[in-house]
Amino acid sequence: MLIGGEILYQALYRKYRPKTFEDLAGQQYVITTLKNALKAKKISHAYLFSGPRGVGKTTVAKILAKAINCENLENGEPCNECSNCLEVLNKKCVDIVEIDAASNNGVDEIRELKNKINLVPSSLKYKCYIIDEVHMLSIGAFNALLKTLEEPPEHVVFILATTEIHKVPETVLSRCQCYNFTKISVEDTVNRLKKVIQQEKINVDEFILDEIAKASDGSLRDALGLLDQLSSFNKEKITIDLFEKIRGVLNTDKIKDFLDTFYNNEREKILQLIQTFDKTGIDFVKIIDQIIQYLRDELIDFYLNHKQLDYPDEKIIRSIQQFDAIQNKIKHSNNTKIMFEIEILNLMKEKSKIISREIKYDSKIENKDVLENQTDNKKSEFIEKPIENIIDDNKIDVKINNIFARAKKEKLLYIKNNIEKFNDFIFDTEVGYIICMILDGNLRVASDEGLIISYEYASMVEKALEKQKLIEEQFSKILDIDINVVFITDEQWEKLKEDFIFKKKNKIKYQYIENIENNEQKIPDQKLDNNDKIISNEEQKEDAYKTAIDLFGKNVVEME
Ligand SMILES: [Zn+2]
Repeated sequence: MLIGGEILYQALYRKYRPKTFEDLAGQQYVITTLKNALKAKKISHAYLFSGPRGVGKTTVAKILAKAINCENLENGEPCNECSNCLEVLNKKCVDIVEIDAASNNGVDEIRELKNKINLVPSSLKYKCYIIDEVHMLSIGAFNALLKTLEEPPEHVVFILATTEIHKVPETVLSRCQCYNFTKISVEDTVNRLKKVIQQEKINVDEFILDEIAKASDGSLRDALGLLDQLSSFNKEKITIDLFEKIRGVLNTDKIKDFLDTFYNNEREKILQLIQTFDKTGIDFVKIIDQIIQYLRDELIDFYLNHKQLDYPDEKIIRSIQQFDAIQNKIKHSNNTKIMFEIEILNLMKEKSKIISREIKYDSKIENKDVLENQTDNKKSEFIEKPIENIIDDNKIDVKINNIFARAKKEKLLYIKNNIEKFNDFIFDTEVGYIICMILDGNLRVASDEGLIISYEYASMVEKALEKQKLIEEQFSKILDIDINVVFITDEQWEKLKEDFIFKKKNKIKYQYIENIENNEQKIPDQKLDNNDKIISNEEQKEDAYKTAIDLFGKNVVEME
């Protein structure tokens, strides 16, 4: 347990602090350069390590202090066994002076440093001054340091470290050999964590280690700290729930699930997810942080590592801006959950509006076609036989065939022109999500009894199928039409459209299938026979052409 005090407990991060360069996680470039210099016995009098916190700057400084003093340096590595190595490892070693500029402005330390700097080391080869967060030294301390950096005695080595190199004066930088430390990769962090859990016998799944690594954002110290905290709660088994609770973050799967739901415009599910987020007790401002970070990582992977994106990059960029705006809005609210819910629903509603605007625009173009083909539609209405009982049949092919066989432009237009009526029910607590499903679909072809709706994703088709009855009810309630709906994907729709045009061009008629419960019924694909009693061949040819134009627009039909 974390009882405090290192006598009882030693932090994992200290306990597993690497004693050799080889043992270090990440920083390959820095390590290789330093080791090569040590092997060639090229020792600088001033080093400057810069980079984010927790990535190993102080650790490398300590290994370096050993290495330059080691009696049995091997391949650039300190032996950790000779008297000098042991002396450095001993906390009371007077020749290694650590100054933390962050905890005071360093004036006294630097003054003392100046007074003692000319004294030869008491036991080591080199006196070593490690100054952490050197950018925080006061101007006076800096000036004093500069003087000594200009002409340091032979037996002195400075190792300066900073997280903010831009705050270090140029005059200091120019006197140092500079090394830039980078964030430690998730992979390197996980590998280090694995070693630690093995030795400490901590039971934790690898995917949680992954989450710990990601949450630590390249800082191994933070990663080990987090592991420490988690294992102090329950060493027997670290669960993802515990991780989320302690860390105050959601795991990546949950974030991904949330975004999928958001992009698929599934309002019912998004509200459920927000509910589960709320149960974790994590602040929604923090959750948005994570969502933005996740999307940003996706983009970086896409642009730099050419990884595939789940959604178009423009969409992701726009979402980042939207989530950022939401975060700003809810930050000062006392009810972040409710505000988050409302903002997310609003965004989804906007999306639906865009869709219905597109439909409206679409119908304007098609209006012309209808006027041109009015007579034609009357004719086809006259030919067709009544449809019976499509509802309970699952044979979608037959349903689609029948909708095509009796397709009516006016019907589709009526629905499209009135689709905005559904908007009024978006926030209805009972049917709001059904309305959203309708608005999210693309209205394709309609007959008096049937309507084909297509969706971008197969998952949305599945959802719609589950709620088919409820969807049809809304058409009846809001638009006052009794219609059977068939759901397909946009991709399937493209194929159907091609097929339709092909048939029309080759004079193959969609024949209405009356009894679709009869399994032996086939979808007729035969050429028109001469027995057709009502219209002549010529008329049919004309009819086919006009119907195609009517349904899909002139350009599509006349292609090829
Ligand atoms: Zn040694």
